[in-house]
Amino acid sequence: MKQIDFKGKKALVRVDFNVPLDKSFQITDDTRIREALPTIKHILDAGGSAILMSHLGRPLEKLNADGTINVQKFTLNHLVKHLRKKLKTKIHFADDCVGKSAVKKAAALKPGEVLLLENTRFHAEEEKGDAEFSKKLAALGDVYINDAFGTAHRAHASTTIVANYFAAPNKAFGFLMEREIENATKAMHEPAKPVTCVTGGAKVSDKLLLLEKFLDYADNIIIGGAMAYTFFLAKKGSVGNSLVEADRLKTAKDFLKKAKEAGVKVYLPKDSVCGDKFAVDAAVQTCPSNQIPDGWMGLDIGPAAARQFAGIIRKSSTVIWNGPMGVFEMEAFANGTKVVAKACAQATKKGAFTMVGGGDSVAAVNQLKLAKKVSFVSTGGGAMLEFLEGKELPGIKAIKG
Ligand code: AMP
Repeated sequence: MKQIDFKGKKALVRVDFNVPLDKSFQITDDTRIREALPTIKHILDAGGSAILMSHLGRPLEKLNADGTINVQKFTLNHLVKHLRKKLKTKIHFADDCVGKSAVKKAAALKPGEVLLLENTRFHAEEEKGDAEFSKKLAALGDVYINDAFGTAHRAHASTTIVANYFAAPNKAFGFLMEREIENATKAMHEPAKPVTCVTGGAKVSDKLLLLEKFLDYADNIIIGGAMAYTFFLAKKGSVGNSLVEADRLKTAKDFLKKAKEAGVKVYLPKDSVCGDKFAVDAAVQTCPSNQIPDGWMGLDIGPAAARQFAGIIRKSSTVIWNGPMGVFEMEAFANGTKVVAKACAQATKKGAFTMVGGGDSVAAVNQLKLAKKVSFVSTGGGAMLEFLEGKELPGIKAIKG
């Protein structure tokens, strides 16, 4: 983006302004807006103007009873006041992202000013990646900037197809998107060794591609969360009522075999904190993860496993972490995730590159206020998961070619 001369140009910028709103449509967390500000400010400071487009929620899935769009709920107009405060410039609003009013307002936009377009998802063509619709969006700007990494895995009109209408020097990643790509690329392609990949969360099936990709560059793979119990069951352990995927036992076994062949060490939690039900007021006991009694379920890694995992993380030079070690939303089962998060912070302090991304572990790190103590926290959710799985994201390809 730094190589583009924005002077006198209108930059069409795809941002991720899908922010949470309360019942009176006040923004409850403006992180996504704040993260897009450096890109917008750069364009304005360089003498350009910015035409911002984003989705907000899923308006076409939550129509009014009469089948019309619930504009009052899903309009991006809710953000105008906040943007004005943050950017201290004129913020115009077009009540449709395409059509006469958008064209007129975009044409009248002056350098240093911002035009916010209405929710792109008011049109079914957005998610379909419709070419004609994309062309209309593209016609509004001279250059296209994509700063919405969180939607880069979707081939939607505003995130991907629109880029086809801009020639190479006139399209680029915004700063936020650039940072996400750079950090994940660094972790995956030029990691300092030893590399430890930590994964957890609910299902093996969701993380299988990720685990397989980790085999390409990890020295250690740590598996926590409910996923671990499918592995224990595959190894003929007793896992009580723990969450397992009985149809993935062979997959789990095959993965362990592949890891062995690749010389990658896989660590499963030796012990587990178990509950007699999935609830905050569950009775709790710690037991070996392969000897969980009937009627009990593993809901967190146990203290011995947490100690072992933390030790491995602290000795690593690169750590990639995706997925909590247990049901961290409940205090009784949050310890494993806390210990891993703290170990990542300690490793970072000793000079390791630590990246947290692609799922609930990001929420855990934020909840523990450790986000600033690791090297990089991705905002990318599903997009980061797919990037780490080694997939080519359509939003990235559309710009890089
Ligand atoms: P994911 O979105 O796949 O990363 O899964 C995150 C979810 O997995 C969180 O909501 C956790 O509460 C849940 N989780 C983690 N460990 C367990 C476990 N042992 N049993 C049930 N759910 C778990």
